[in-house]
Amino acid sequence: MFTSGKYCRPRRCLFYIIGFFICQLILVFQFIRFERYTDTPASITLHHANGSGNRFLDWREFISHTPLRSEDYYQYNLHLSDTLGVIRNLPSTRHYGCMTRPFKLPPPLASTVSVVISFHNEARSMLLRTIVSLLRRTPEEYLHELILVDDGSQDVTLLDDLKRWMDGVFEARRDRLGLIFRRNQKRMGLISSRNRGASLASGHYVLFLDSHCEVNEEWLEPLLERLALNPHLAVSPLLDPIDPTTLSYRKGNEMLKGGFDWSLHFHWLKRQLAIKELPEMPYKSPAFAGGVLMMSRDWFLKLGSFNSYLKIWGGESIELAIKLWLCGGQIEIVPCSRIGHIFRRRHAFDFPPQSDQDQQLSPAQETYLQLHFDELSATGTLRNEDRCLHARQMDSQLILASCYLSDITQWSMLRSSGQLSTQRELCLGVGLRMRIALQPCGRNETMRKSQRWLRLGTHLLHVETHLCLDNPFKDRLEMSTCRSHAVSQSFQFALEMEGQT
Ligand code: UDP
Ligand code: MN
Repeated sequence: MFTSGKYCRPRRCLFYIIGFFICQLILVFQFIRFERYTDTPASITLHHANGSGNRFLDWREFISHTPLRSEDYYQYNLHLSDTLGVIRNLPSTRHYGCMTRPFKLPPPLASTVSVVISFHNEARSMLLRTIVSLLRRTPEEYLHELILVDDGSQDVTLLDDLKRWMDGVFEARRDRLGLIFRRNQKRMGLISSRNRGASLASGHYVLFLDSHCEVNEEWLEPLLERLALNPHLAVSPLLDPIDPTTLSYRKGNEMLKGGFDWSLHFHWLKRQLAIKELPEMPYKSPAFAGGVLMMSRDWFLKLGSFNSYLKIWGGESIELAIKLWLCGGQIEIVPCSRIGHIFRRRHAFDFPPQSDQDQQLSPAQETYLQLHFDELSATGTLRNEDRCLHARQMDSQLILASCYLSDITQWSMLRSSGQLSTQRELCLGVGLRMRIALQPCGRNETMRKSQRWLRLGTHLLHVETHLCLDNPFKDRLEMSTCRSHAVSQSFQFALEMEGQT
C-alpha cells in the first residue's frame, strides 16, 4: 500500500524510512545502554588518580579477588553481578508527580549526611555497586562521609583493597568526603556493627544502608525535605526490589507500610489512601519498611541507638520504631525516594550458636533453634485477617484466636515435606470428611500425604484434596475450593522465607 503515490510520494516515503531507521537505532542504543550497564567509574565523574601507583584503580581487578564461592553462599547471581559493572542505569520507578516538583532542601551546612554500611560476606562487585551508586547519585554538598564496617567477612583483604581503590578513584573528593573504614575482627552482627558506625558519625543525619543496594536518581532530596520539617522524624525510602537471580530492578509497592506483632515479627500492612492523598506522598508507618532508614544522628544516639542486646540480625528496626513512637518521634515512608535492594530468598549467613543467656533474648526462639533455617519456607504466627491460627494447649483444638495471646502458636512450614507443624511436633492435616485436625507429624508417606500443603500466594492449598484452608464464617475452619481473591483464604505467616507465587 505504501508504493501507491496516493499514500506515499517517493520523497516523503524516503523521509519516513530514514526516520524509521533513526528511531530504531535510538531504541537499540538505549536498550544496549540499559541492558549491558557498561558504565565504568571513568565515565561517572569520578576521578582517577593518575600516576599514583595505586594497584587497585581498576575495579575489575578489585573484584577479581572475590573468593570463589557457590551461588548459595551469596544467595544472588554472583557471575551477573561481576559482569554488570560498578554502575548501571536504573529505570525510574517513582511516580511522575515526584519528577515535576522541586524539593525544598535545607541548607547543606546544617544537613549533612553520614552513611553507615555494615557488611558481612558481601561480594565485592555488589558492595562496590552500592558505594558507587551512592557517590554518583548523592549531591556532594550533603554527603558528609561514608562509614564502612566490615563485620568479620571471610574475605580478609577486602577492606584494605577497597580502601586503596577508593583512595585512588575518589581522590579529588577527599577534602569534602570523609571515608572511615573499620573491621570487626570478630563478627559482631548487623546491630552492633551499625551502632559502631553511627558512633563514629559526625554528620547531622545518619543513613543506614545495606551492602547490596543501588540508590536511584534524586533519592536523598525527598528524604531531606521531610527531615527538615521535623527533627524527631525518621524516614525510609521506598525499597525497589532487585531480583537476586536476574538482578533486574523493579518498582516497589508504595501501598504498603511496615508493622509487627507481639512476637516482634515484621508484617507488611496495607496502606489506605485518605481523600486527596496521592500514592507518592510521604506516609506514616508503624515500623520501617526494611533496614534502610535515615534520621538525625543526635536523636538516634539519644534514643540509645539500636538495642545492643539484640544479636546478629533482626528485631532492631522494630525496637527502634517502638522507641521512636513512644518518645515523640514519627516514622514516614517517602515514595519519591527510591533505593534498590536485593531481597534474598534466604539468609546468606549463618547464626553463630548463642549462649543460654542470649537465647532468652530472641523472639520465638524455639521455631528457629529446633529446625535448620534452610528447612523452613515460612514460620511464625499464621494470620487470617485479624485472627491467628492457634492450637489450644489443653486439648490441641484448632481455633482462630487473638494474635496477641502470649502463647499464640508459632507455625513452621517445611520446605521438603510441605508439612505445617507446631512447636510440639503436631502437624496440620485433613482427615475423613475434610476434617481439619492436628495430628502427630507423619513420618511415613501416607501420613505425610494428608499433611502436605502448598503455598499459593497467601493461600494454603492442601495437595491431596486440592482444596484451600478457609475461614468463611467467623472462627470456623473449613476446606473449600480455592478462590484467588478470597480474604477468608488468605493466611499470612509472620516470616516468609520464599517469595510467594
Ligand atoms: N550484616 C552484617 N553482619 C551480620 C549480618 C548482616 O553486617 O552478621 C549486614 C549485611 O551484609 C547487610 C545488612 O547487614 O548489609 C543487612 O543484612 P541483610 O541484608 O541480610 O538483611 P535483610 O536485608 O535480609 O533484612
Ligand atoms: Mn539486605
